[in-house]
Amino acid sequence: MTNDKLKKIAITGGKGGTGKSTVAILFANQLVKDYNPPTASSHSSLRSEWAPGKKVILCDCDVECPNDYLLLGQKLRKPQGKVYAEFPKLIKEKCKKCGLCAKTCRSNAIFQAPGKYPVFIKDLCSACGACWIVCPYHAIEPQKEETGKIFMNKIKNNFWLVTGSAKPGLEETGPVVTEVKKFALKFAEKKKVDYILFDTAAGTHCPVISALLDCDLAYAVTEPTPMGAYDLNLILDLSQKLKVPARVILNQADLGDKRRIEKIAKNFKIKIEKEIPYSKKLVEAYSKGKLLNFSL
Ligand code: SF4
Ligand code: SF4
Repeated sequence: MTNDKLKKIAITGGKGGTGKSTVAILFANQLVKDYNPPTASSHSSLRSEWAPGKKVILCDCDVECPNDYLLLGQKLRKPQGKVYAEFPKLIKEKCKKCGLCAKTCRSNAIFQAPGKYPVFIKDLCSACGACWIVCPYHAIEPQKEETGKIFMNKIKNNFWLVTGSAKPGLEETGPVVTEVKKFALKFAEKKKVDYILFDTAAGTHCPVISALLDCDLAYAVTEPTPMGAYDLNLILDLSQKLKVPARVILNQADLGDKRRIEKIAKNFKIKIEKEIPYSKKLVEAYSKGKLLNFSL
């Protein structure tokens, strides 16, 4: 049975270092605070989005460098799930050196010198499977390998952290993000969670797209700098293409010129949901992994 009340929100931002993870944690703290189980007389849909008292999963989708657990003073112990992908393996006895696999690979992950066997460059391979599909001699076999791990931490009552971690050096991490999301959504069903916050990687590349897909809303975290404005434009454009409604959170709002950000938000006809001023206390809590006591 699906959980209709579950809201899936991405906390994202084109640029790294804008405080995306900090905002995701503060938002989660805010939502969880003072959780009261719903009663017959309470009507959760009447509460505002920012109102506290929810069951929340924070899902760290920055799988190449997850750090939410550090900011929450946690450790990643035994993985609760593993992610696998299939990579090509050559069967030399069957290969006729025809070169079709190398021509087909769009990731340039197959090198083939004239008259030689193809060589697979694992670091470039996205495990798309095209090479073993096109090989007319069935000389390439898919070989399953672990590409990531999924961890779970219970932070406190009604607040869980799901962390995805990709194998170091993995070229294409979007599929790992997809699996981490599936894991978190399944757990949300089981616990009847109200909110999942997907803390995405920075940028607008494949793992960010995987994290944003199918979200109800995206908060784009930015800062009032030229780079912040440039990257905000990119992430809002991406959200629009993916048909995920977006709003802006302006971090360290008092440390620059926010007119550029306001202009971009206006261009996209969206609002700046929140402005967070610079806070020395918050920066100290961040560096000590003690963000759990702060909220937006
Ligand atoms: S397509 Fe198959 S037969 Fe042709 S070079 Fe690649 S592995 Fe060998
Ligand atoms: S699986 Fe895809 S990316 Fe990897 S070598 Fe084959 S064609 Fe290239």
